[in-house]
Amino acid sequence: MRNWPLPNLKNQKITLPPEWDTRDWIYSEREYMYKNSSPNYFDMPKGWGNPWPDLPSPDDETPGIDLSSIRLSVPRNRCAANTLMGYYIGWHIVGVSFQNEKGRDPHDGEELKAYNDSLPEENKFGVHICMESIDNYIRKFSTEGVDKDHVSDYLEYCTYLTLIYVIAHEWGHYRSEVLSFQVSKLSESVTGRVDNEYRSCYLSYFVNKKMYPESNFEEVFAEWAALKLGVFNFYMKPPAFAAQMTNWPLIESTVKYMLTEVMSRPSRTRPYSDIRHWVDFESITENTILRRFSENKSSINRAVNDNVRIEGVRSLYNGKITDLLVHNQMQFSRNRRFNGIVESSWNSYPLHPDSLFYHFGYDDCLDAHKASKTENYLRLSMPPQTINFSYVRKVLYDLKESKGDFIYFPIKVFPDILPLDAVYFH
Ligand SMILES: [Zn+2]
Repeated sequence: MRNWPLPNLKNQKITLPPEWDTRDWIYSEREYMYKNSSPNYFDMPKGWGNPWPDLPSPDDETPGIDLSSIRLSVPRNRCAANTLMGYYIGWHIVGVSFQNEKGRDPHDGEELKAYNDSLPEENKFGVHICMESIDNYIRKFSTEGVDKDHVSDYLEYCTYLTLIYVIAHEWGHYRSEVLSFQVSKLSESVTGRVDNEYRSCYLSYFVNKKMYPESNFEEVFAEWAALKLGVFNFYMKPPAFAAQMTNWPLIESTVKYMLTEVMSRPSRTRPYSDIRHWVDFESITENTILRRFSENKSSINRAVNDNVRIEGVRSLYNGKITDLLVHNQMQFSRNRRFNGIVESSWNSYPLHPDSLFYHFGYDDCLDAHKASKTENYLRLSMPPQTINFSYVRKVLYDLKESKGDFIYFPIKVFPDILPLDAVYFH
């Protein structure tokens, strides 16, 4: 039987951090200067290089910070706000809802799982995608200059990229919650005690990030995940029509370039646009790297990591963006010296992050692998067939292999730590 974890809700009073000083932090005021010109270092196919309309925030919903009001058994169509492209419902939030609705803690993880299974689909633990919001976004695209025979291919490819962008972004929030369980386990094995000074309270962390949504570093992490494991994930299966296009590598790199442009556009809302302070977009899209799409493709997977701006962190191992996320979570440990929270807004971070991963040099989100049909990879359930046309549904049915009800993405999940059942489409 699977060992479903219980969120650490017991004896965890929500505490918010004290004031902090900024000694031992690195400040970098490098402002990424976005050059407001279209790329001219390669010949863009006419039309396919059209600028993208402003990207809606992947998950701009701010569900109050009043945890006591969370009741997930009450149906709630979050996708009705058609600016919302997706959302993630955390396992801890399911735990909080259980407490609120039953007036007690669940006996074990299995009972919590049974409760989760009883919830309306849109409120279940996991990654959720709002198909109509993505469809609406795609309808705003200009197809000017696109050969009329290729208009639907163009819109489908933009849908495909938007979809993997949103899914990988939401996976970033799942990864953050997995980290909280990993930190608990690691700290227990290091100290030999469950109740140790490193054990952080994910819910305190969660409340804090909801209190300061505009500077929430977790969104930067999620945008990084969207680039690394979504848009630039070389193992991601391309849409079927790609095989018929003679100049596919050029088209692929052009349209991906346009997506990175809209992601890093300074006019975009914060904290999402803050990703441009952390990833060197000019470098990840420079000609030599884009050319790898058609040459040595596997090296493209490293491009995003190699161009994340975390420098000067003193350790045997280089600091990674995951370490800064762990650092933030560990600020909500009891009896631990508060060392400040890394914010999204500008590039500032501690010289010595409080991160167990950092000390162990451990990070299993660096790799992307070819997906196989196992519980170790992200599984997408197929959306219901309806009469209305949907770009998202078309892309999904295109990606689906003839047999089977699911699509697997080359993004790892962590079934031993926090099983992620499926990505839901609404
Ligand atoms: Zn997000």
